[in-house]
Amino acid sequence: MMRQYELVERVTRYNPDADEALLNKAYVYAMQKHGSQMRASGDPYFSHPLEVAAILTDLRLDDATIAVALLHDTIEDTDATRTEIDSLFGEEIGKLVDGLTKISRLDLVSRKAKQAENFRKLLLAIADDVRVLLVKLADRLHNMRTLHHMPEHKRGRIAEETMEIYAPLAGRMGMHDMREELEDISFHTLNPEAYETINERLEDLRERNKDLILDIETTLTERLSERGMAALVKGREKRPYSIFRKMQRKAIGFEQLSDIYGFRVTVGTLEACYRVLGVIHTTWPTVPGRFKDYISTPKQNDYKSLHTTIVGPSRQRVELQIRTVNMDRVAEYGIAAHALYKDGEFGGRNIANHTEDCRAFEWLRRTTELLAQGDTPEEFLENTKLELFHDQVFCFTPKGRLIALPRGATPIDFAYAVHTDIGNTCVGCKINGKIMPLVTALHNGDEVEVIRSQAQTPPPAWEAIAVTGKARAAIRRATRESVRKQYGALGEHILKRAFARADKSYSEDLLEAVLDTHHQNSVADLLAAVGRGDLSAQTVLKTAHPDYQDERVAISGPPSGEGWFDLKQGHGLKFRIPPTGLAGAIVEDGDDWSDNNALPIRGLSGDIPVSFAPDGGAVPGDRIVGILTSSGGLTIYPIQSPALKEYDDETERWVDVRWDIDVNNPERFPARLDISAANEPGSLATIAQVIGENSGNIDNVKMLQRAPDFHQMLIDLEVWDLKHLNRIINQLRSKPNVSSVSRVNG
Ligand code: MN
Repeated sequence: MMRQYELVERVTRYNPDADEALLNKAYVYAMQKHGSQMRASGDPYFSHPLEVAAILTDLRLDDATIAVALLHDTIEDTDATRTEIDSLFGEEIGKLVDGLTKISRLDLVSRKAKQAENFRKLLLAIADDVRVLLVKLADRLHNMRTLHHMPEHKRGRIAEETMEIYAPLAGRMGMHDMREELEDISFHTLNPEAYETINERLEDLRERNKDLILDIETTLTERLSERGMAALVKGREKRPYSIFRKMQRKAIGFEQLSDIYGFRVTVGTLEACYRVLGVIHTTWPTVPGRFKDYISTPKQNDYKSLHTTIVGPSRQRVELQIRTVNMDRVAEYGIAAHALYKDGEFGGRNIANHTEDCRAFEWLRRTTELLAQGDTPEEFLENTKLELFHDQVFCFTPKGRLIALPRGATPIDFAYAVHTDIGNTCVGCKINGKIMPLVTALHNGDEVEVIRSQAQTPPPAWEAIAVTGKARAAIRRATRESVRKQYGALGEHILKRAFARADKSYSEDLLEAVLDTHHQNSVADLLAAVGRGDLSAQTVLKTAHPDYQDERVAISGPPSGEGWFDLKQGHGLKFRIPPTGLAGAIVEDGDDWSDNNALPIRGLSGDIPVSFAPDGGAVPGDRIVGILTSSGGLTIYPIQSPALKEYDDETERWVDVRWDIDVNNPERFPARLDISAANEPGSLATIAQVIGENSGNIDNVKMLQRAPDFHQMLIDLEVWDLKHLNRIINQLRSKPNVSSVSRVNG
C-alpha cells in the first residue's frame, strides 16, 4: 500500500503548490474511517481509495480532486457524513464527495443496455463538476483492475456496464488510455475466447517483431536529428479490444490489419510534417495506396494529419501519423480543443508546460458540456443538444427502467411516459418510497412508483398539470372518451324511459336500423347524441316505431339562455343549458354554490373560518372531516365525498371535526340534490312544493339537461339535518313525475 508521503510526493512532483496538509488530512481521515474494512481481494479497504487517488495523480489532477478520491467511499461505506466532511475539508470537497455518493447509489439500480446513453446523461446531470466524473472513472478503473477478485456471477454485469457507460465516457473526455484499459478488461471478462485468441496472435507478433517499436523509434529519431529536425516519435501496439472492434467493423481477419503497430511523430511546423514524410519514405518501403494527406484535406471534424504505412523490419506493416503539436491537440481533445483555441486559452503554449497540466481539469470541466453530445464539432457548435440535456430529468421505475422527462415533469408525466394505460389508471405515487402529491416536480435520480386503480379515469384538470405532450394528449383523449360514455349512458336512460312510456319495445337492433336516418355511425354515437340533447328521444322513438303517435301536448320550454332560477324572487324563471351540457361535470360557478358561513364546530381552536364542501355541502348527521384550506380556513366534507381523494396525500391538512349543534338555536346546513323529472307541466312546481312543505329552503337551481322529455337539475337547499334531508328525498321520489333523486357529494 502506498505510504502517505509517497502520495503527497506524487502530487507535489507536478504541482509544487499543492495543499499538502489537505492531502495528509484526507489520507488519515479516510484510513481511519475505513478502519478494518476489507476488499474482496483481502486487502484493507483503504487500499482502494488510495489507488484511485494514485490513478488521478497520473492524470495530474488538482489537490482537491486527489483528496476527494481518498474520501470518495466514506459517506457511502462508513459512518462519515456530509456535514462532517464539510466541516473538516470545506464545502467544495463535501459537495464533490456527495456527488460520488449519489452516483454509487445509482450503481445499485439495474439497467438495460439500450439505456446506456441516458445513463451517461444522468451521470452528467448529477455530477455538475467534472471532477466527480474523473474520480468516478478512476474508481471504476481500479475496480476493473481488481475485478477478478469479485464473485464470477457479478463480473459480467459490471463489465457490461463499464463497456456501455464508463469506457465511452472516458473516451469522450479525451482520456483514451483509460478508455482502452476499461475496454480491454471488460472485453476479457465478457468474451474471454476472443480476447485470448487476439492476445495469442499479438504475442506471436511480438515474438517475431522483437524490439520493433524501439527499433523504429530509434532509427527515425536518429535520421531526423541527422537532418537537424526535432521531433517526438512515439510507438504503440494496438490493444486487443481495439483490434477486435476493427476486425468486426471491417469484417477482416487479423492478418489484414495494417495498423497493429502505430507511430506518432509530432513536430513544430506544418512544413516539417512533409519533411518527416520524406525521411520516412526514403528509409522504409511504403505500402501503396495507404498514404493520406489530411492536412491539405482535413477530415470533417477538422482532424489534420499525414498518414502513411511502411513495411518495417521483419516485414511487419506499420502505420505512421505525422502532425504538428497543435494538430495533435485537436486530434486528442477533439472538440474540447476547439473550444479552447477559440478562447485563445492554450494558444502558443508548450504542451509539456506544468502550469498547463495543472489546469488540465479546466478544460475537462468544459468538456462536461460536450459529453452529452455527438462527436462532431458541427454538433458542438449547433449547441442545441446542450439545452436539451439541461432541460431534462432522469427518473427510474421501481424495476430500474430509466425514464427521461423534461424538467418540471410530474409523476403524471412519468406514468404516461411509462405507458398510456399506467397514466390513465394513475391515482397516486410514491417518490423514493414516500407517498407524494402527483403535482410534485421530479428530480434527477428519483425512483417513482405509480399507484393505480382500474376504476380511475384521468381528471381533466391533469391536462394543465402535465408537462409532456404525450401525457396531455392522452388525458384529453381519456376525458373525451369518458364524457362520451357518460353521454351514452344518459342517452340510453332517456331512450329506455321514452320507449317504456310509449309502451314500445326497446332494443339495440331497433336503434341499429335507424342509424342512417339520424346520420349516426354507431349505436354508441346515437345514444351520446340523445344524451347531449342533439337528438330527441321522441324523434328516435318515431323512427324506430313508425306506428307510434305522440299524444302529448307540446310544451314550450322556458327561454333557453342564461341564468338561474331565482326562486326567492318567485318570478322570471330562467335557466340555461350548460355550455358543454355534461351532467355532473358542469358546475363551474363554484362561488355561487358555496356557503361561507363560519360555524362553531367542536374540535377546533380559535376562529377558523368554516365553509362546507362547495359541491354538495354537509349536514348534521353526516360523518364529517375538515380540510385546511390554503388560506387558513377549514372546509367540512362528508366523509363519503369523492373530493376528499384529492387530499389523500396531504394528511397534514386533515382535521377531525364533529357537529356541535345548539338545540336552542337551530341552524340550516347546505346540501345538494340531483333530480331528474319529466318535462311535463307542473313537475318543477311539484318539486318546489315538496321542499317547501317540508320547510326546506331552496337556494339555487341549476339545469343540467333539458331534453324534450325530461329535465335534470341540481338543487341546492338548506336543511336542519340528515333526517330532514332524507325525508325530503323520499317524498320527492314518491312523486310520479320525478324519475330519480340523489344526493350530490362533491
Ligand atoms: Mn470506490
